[in-house]
Amino acid sequence: MHDKTLTQLANALGSGELSSRELTEHYLQRIQHSGATLNSFITVTADQALAQADAADQARANGNAGWLAGLPLALKDIFCTQGVKTSCGSRMLDNFTAPYDATVVEKLKAAGTVSLGKTNMDEFAMGSSNENSYYGPVNNPWDLSAVPGGSSGGSAAAVAAGLTPAALGTDTGGSIRQPAAFCGITGLKPTYGRVSRYGMIAYASSLDQAGPMARSAEDCAHLLNVMAGHDVRDSTSVARGVPDYAETLNASLSGLKIGLPQEYFGEGLDPDVEKAVREAVRVYESLGATVRDVSLPHTHYAIPAYYVIAPAEASSNLSRFDGVRFGHRCDNPSDLIDLYKRSRAEGFGDEVQRRILIGTHTLSEGFFDAYYTKAQKVRRLIRQDFLDAFEDVDVLMGPASPTPAFDLGAKKDPVSMYLQDIYTIAVNLAGIPGISVPAGFVGRRPVGLQILGTHFAEAQLLNVAHQFQQTTDWHLQRPDFAEESA
Ligand code: GLN
Repeated sequence: MHDKTLTQLANALGSGELSSRELTEHYLQRIQHSGATLNSFITVTADQALAQADAADQARANGNAGWLAGLPLALKDIFCTQGVKTSCGSRMLDNFTAPYDATVVEKLKAAGTVSLGKTNMDEFAMGSSNENSYYGPVNNPWDLSAVPGGSSGGSAAAVAAGLTPAALGTDTGGSIRQPAAFCGITGLKPTYGRVSRYGMIAYASSLDQAGPMARSAEDCAHLLNVMAGHDVRDSTSVARGVPDYAETLNASLSGLKIGLPQEYFGEGLDPDVEKAVREAVRVYESLGATVRDVSLPHTHYAIPAYYVIAPAEASSNLSRFDGVRFGHRCDNPSDLIDLYKRSRAEGFGDEVQRRILIGTHTLSEGFFDAYYTKAQKVRRLIRQDFLDAFEDVDVLMGPASPTPAFDLGAKKDPVSMYLQDIYTIAVNLAGIPGISVPAGFVGRRPVGLQILGTHFAEAQLLNVAHQFQQTTDWHLQRPDFAEESA
């Protein structure tokens, strides 16, 4: 059952071959069985899941079940879930039970999905390996000595291992696409503003975006159909119609113009990753696409600009965690200042504290213009690079990450970890959508092909990804782990 895609499971539910209860029990069992090995879940909501499954089965019997009704999902622990612990991977929120549902959670519930639980993640979504979680690292099901990527590492590992058919992630600088690449699954970061951020714990508000992680582009299309849309509770969500993303999956790619950014194929790129990506591009040529080289000349500045802007926004967003209103509070504070200091020192891990320090510094008087204002100007140039490229081509293709998954504990200094996001971060600065699809292996470790489109081109990206998955079967391969723990 767990080797099926969401689409295949939806069909099995529709034909009555399977009930949502059977499906849900199967996945809950798998989570329990592999929990200790992978550490991909922080919280499992078995009782709630079974109640939702029964309600979906009932709705189907009454003839009013939608496409997603009865399908199990997992949620990154950054999404507020009413009555369920929402930790954001942090000791700070270890004791926090959200009093309301995030908009995407509310929408997926209303569509009849079953929530299996909350997945592990880097603390406050800061990281590229899931090693920054208060709840410990996640192992990559393809190779347990490798990281699953981050920050949505728990979601990616759980989908790859067949513990859930799909999961939600968030992407501020690559956190959906890079773990999707490392775990051999499909992950879509939508255009900024396409999906509501309401109830999603904020890291860097001008960059954060939620998206689907699943085994195929088709599965992602069905999830995005429900997740996307304007929300009056998020003023940055865009009031723009939501097309049926599943309807255009089979459009022909004949005449598609693909650009290969030369900056994404330079120094630092693992030759085996490059080979897999170039082979994937050849598959597109065989489908009728034309390929040309393009340039995104400001790519080099993306990481420095991001590491000014993201920590600045984070330092502001995280100031609400002060030990007073909610979250961790230190024992026996001597006065108010002591309460603030110790609660924050105890509640936040090292990487989060590092970002707060950087952000506080760059926003301080005397440094603001030199750092923050400058970074915003660079951001504009990076955005313009993409808009110029999309004058000439329909989509851009390249690797999602310069290397396959690295070993747990391998990256000791923060800067080498930050460099991991070299191909994903500019996309968030520009606000455009991107998808990572499985495109081969280096040894046992998967490689992700990244496809980028202009603002609101999700339907096109899903179409382009789906056509690749009609021709190749990288996305259907499973780690041995998924079979062994059957
Ligand atoms: N790795 C990047 C960071 O640490 C991006 C994380 C993300 O997309 N949430 O900030």
